[in-house]
Amino acid sequence: MIILKRPEEIEKMAMAGEIVGRAIQLAGERLKPGLNTREIDKWIEDYIRLKEAIPSFKGYHGFPYASCISINEEIVHGMPAKNRRIKEGDIVSIDVGAFKNGYHADSARTFAIGTVSAEAKKLMEITFQALDKAIEKVAPKNPLGTVSHAIQEWVEKHGFSVIRDYVGHGIGKNLHEDPQIPNYGEPSYGVILRKGMVLAIEPMVSAGDWRTDLLKNGWTAVTLDRSLSAHYEDTVALCDSGVRNLTRV
Ligand code: MG
Ligand code: MG
Repeated sequence: MIILKRPEEIEKMAMAGEIVGRAIQLAGERLKPGLNTREIDKWIEDYIRLKEAIPSFKGYHGFPYASCISINEEIVHGMPAKNRRIKEGDIVSIDVGAFKNGYHADSARTFAIGTVSAEAKKLMEITFQALDKAIEKVAPKNPLGTVSHAIQEWVEKHGFSVIRDYVGHGIGKNLHEDPQIPNYGEPSYGVILRKGMVLAIEPMVSAGDWRTDLLKNGWTAVTLDRSLSAHYEDTVALCDSGVRNLTRV
């Protein structure tokens, strides 16, 4: 069941969204070789709590941290760890959720550490552009499939593949609500979008094969062929005035 949000609820979600957007931005600005991913997670949690919000991911199905930090072939749900250091040439995806005034917001960005390969740079650009192509399709009366299709079309046109095992989602009082938002699909399929929907759209893209594998920690998804993966996500709301991106700062 898709839960529509009233304008005053979307205002509250925008507060959570700004916290998430800033937390990721601040962490991204401070990334440098040698940092461990647990330190990065600590900055993010401290910032969220400073803003009197709660990290959405902490305790979610037992996940112990405020952020997911996924490096290179890791797609999503990378677990912050003291013994995991980022290094020159890595691409690092940071995924954060915050809960404030009863509502969640969810966002992710992938950052380059120093100079990265041409393939990594292109992968990041195409994935971010795919998110924007998808957001352009968010409008009343459009089938949700137009959003999914926009991602797949842009990604595959550039020789990459979309991850199929993980999807975007509705968001509100719960971190994950209906509808599921695959990163692939036919434009005519899916629910019809309407005012009051709030969607976390999140292209996850592989530079190689789209099939995935799960690491022994039970959380972290990696590409089966260990090719690079990028992840960008925004929480967007369908408002009277059009589409409002709640997490882009
Ligand atoms: Mg997320
Ligand atoms: Mg999400």
